Amino acid sequence: MSQTNRSPWIHQLNTDRPIETLASDTATDIAIVGAGIAGVSTAFFILEHTDKKVVLLDGGKLAHGATGHNAGHVTSAFELSFEDMVKDFGLEKASEGQTLVDGAWELLEDMYRKASLTIPFSQFTGYGGLPTLEHVLEELADNLLRSKANIKQNSVAISKNAPYLSSIPAEYQELYSLVDQSEINEKLETEGEEYSAIVSYQTGLVNSALFCQEIVRYLSTQYKERFSLYEHTFIQKIALHESKAILDAGTKTITAEQVVLCTNGFENFTILNYSGLDIDSRFHHEVSGCVGYMCGYLEPMDKPPAARYYDIPFSKEEAKNIPTGEPYYYITRRPYEYEQNKEHNIVCVGGPEFELADREQYVKDFLYPEEAHNDVDTFIKKTLRRKEQSAINYEFRWHGLMGYTPNRVRLIGSEPKNPVLLYNLGCNGIGILPSIYGGKRISQIVSGEKLNPSIFDPKDA
Ligand SMILES: Cc1cc2nc3c(=O)[nH]c(=O)nc-3n(C[C@H](O)[C@H](O)[C@H](O)COP(=O)(O)OP(=O)(O)OC[C@H]3O[C@@H](n4cnc5c(N)ncnc54)[C@H](O)[C@@H]3O)c2cc1C
Repeated sequence: MSQTNRSPWIHQLNTDRPIETLASDTATDIAIVGAGIAGVSTAFFILEHTDKKVVLLDGGKLAHGATGHNAGHVTSAFELSFEDMVKDFGLEKASEGQTLVDGAWELLEDMYRKASLTIPFSQFTGYGGLPTLEHVLEELADNLLRSKANIKQNSVAISKNAPYLSSIPAEYQELYSLVDQSEINEKLETEGEEYSAIVSYQTGLVNSALFCQEIVRYLSTQYKERFSLYEHTFIQKIALHESKAILDAGTKTITAEQVVLCTNGFENFTILNYSGLDIDSRFHHEVSGCVGYMCGYLEPMDKPPAARYYDIPFSKEEAKNIPTGEPYYYITRRPYEYEQNKEHNIVCVGGPEFELADREQYVKDFLYPEEAHNDVDTFIKKTLRRKEQSAINYEFRWHGLMGYTPNRVRLIGSEPKNPVLLYNLGCNGIGILPSIYGGKRISQIVSGEKLNPSIFDPKDA
């Protein structure tokens, strides 16, 4: 049942788009390496807020990395709980970080407006299914801290039948409501009592690859004198000097005042710093690789868009030993044009993740493994309880590379050992809004704005 890596988002891209490869040595103000949503957003905001010339480079094709292989679920959540963010960074910095990524909703809308995009972007309420008291307490602890920091909470509703109601500490009393189990099941589209509580949050759906394609189309006309995109141009080496970088693209070079790495983090290249201490070995230990697996099937277009996640009923400790990595599954459902002018709903389901060994190469064309497929299929049949389950025809199965930073927060800012190098990377499983915010922050740095220290700052080792 193995299948090649086939993503529904790449399927919707324009295959006739002309592709340009770097044909001669070139010079620019800013070189951006990586044309996924991070690179494209960084180009967008630098071009908008400065008069710099920007060259965007990709070793493969525009938006064919994680950006073309995700769930397209827009959320300002982080890959760690707010409580853990507060432990790592303190309440003030954690809430500032959350507020900055929350602000990326507006940046995304602004990009849509400026580029006059008409591609689908739906916004609605998403739901997370919480199976145990431990999961509920985690959400409530987050909400308590959010209320202290005066930032938006995610509303929590608990079933009147939940067996643990009397164990919820009194300090959380104002932070949740009690509802019928049927209301929870309806929102999660499940049955039984496996999920005794639900958390609601702001969410949206977008094809981030199509978004990049359309933004690049806009940049290429709006800034034709200052913007170029070169694809199939892999950067093997970056040499950093005191006030310039030289990028080695095999037979050609690019000289730039500054270089921004939007590479997701984990591809094989070398950084040589001729103006300070070694960066290369540190950089490669800042980001570790992990492959996420998803599949998708088509349904009649008779239900509204949805985005939900389902925590697996393990404790945090037990979840660390789950062979397929992530302690939750996530699904999205949205209208999808598969053949021209024929719309369906597409339901996408993800969850399994497998770590790559240090510097191990991710193989894009690797077949979709049986183990990941069976894992997702079992979840769909058990939790979504589809009556016609044996008839599921998975039109798409795909996987993508996620670069994880050790603290699970995107790395955005200047390299402390040589500010000619900047980063907007570390895909971390949730990366659409953080990448967009990262693009904005990099443009502020490039234009010389003085920014307050943040949770995103690259640290000096
Ligand atoms: C299975 C899966 C599901 C996900 N689901 C969601 C979701 O629902 N919501 C969400 O917000 N996020 C999700 N994400 C994460 C999100 O997709 C990423 O955070 C985001 O796309 C990262 O964008 P990026 O531009 O940083 O990286 P990428 O899109 O991976 O782009 C990096 C680019 O850099 C290029 N590159 C790398 N090295 C070089 C080099 N040396 N020279 C030239 N080019 C180079 C690559 O070819 C690639 O195109 C998911 C990710 C995966 C894998």
